[in-house]
Amino acid sequence: MPAIRLDCLGSGHAFSHGRDWSGFLLDGRVLLDAPPQTLAALYRVGGAEAVARLDLVLLSHLHADHILGMDLLLLEVTQGAAAALRGASPLAVAGPPGTYARLRGIVGVSDRLPARTDPRLAWLESDAPNRFRWGDIEVERGLMEHDPRVIAHGYRIHVGGRVVAYTGDTRSCDAIETLAAGADVLILECGGPPSPGRDATHLDWPDVSALRARLPSATRMLVTHYDPLTAPDVATLPDITLAEDGASYQFD
Ligand SMILES: [Zn+2]
Ligand SMILES: [Zn+2]
Repeated sequence: MPAIRLDCLGSGHAFSHGRDWSGFLLDGRVLLDAPPQTLAALYRVGGAEAVARLDLVLLSHLHADHILGMDLLLLEVTQGAAAALRGASPLAVAGPPGTYARLRGIVGVSDRLPARTDPRLAWLESDAPNRFRWGDIEVERGLMEHDPRVIAHGYRIHVGGRVVAYTGDTRSCDAIETLAAGADVLILECGGPPSPGRDATHLDWPDVSALRARLPSATRMLVTHYDPLTAPDVATLPDITLAEDGASYQFD
């Protein structure tokens, strides 16, 4: 079975020191969140061809660090060099209810966002939990526990005979293990620790270690959305990979 390829477009959270914001390209086809630097990062991976090969964008939630790359990405897909390279199949964008409306609100009345009815795009907004299929990619969508003011989705992506789980942003909750059950790779956030006196909205390093201890070793863990200033020495995190901006990972 082919290895799972993950290109890290960024590994930081909203306020990380010296990191781009978290996002990944899975097997060159599925974009996991669209941080502000998405288009430039995809160009670094493989130029306009990397954009042209995208089949599906999975947005975990509508916080700025996860969606602000969308307008330029969609312009490139519909009007840029990638538009000429793409085939007839539309790019699907999955996210919580209100995704398109939120992106429209960001760009305002300019034409920098293609119309919702543009046939080169398909909008798959839905409440979790559910599952859907896009071509040969099957996606299970779960509901995570993050900022209570926003809907936060995690995803299990079945692609190339493998399963990749992606938490998006979440605090410690049972949904993470549901998402990770039997997965080959779990990409999980570590946006903690919380500010003093505030409730947790993210995982913290002890949560990550506890999850590592509970999950089978066959499920590889790739930690993202973290601040390198808070990260412990990797030697204290056995069997965990800390994502690095611009790195490419292969999981057999
Ligand atoms: Zn975030
Ligand atoms: Zn968030």
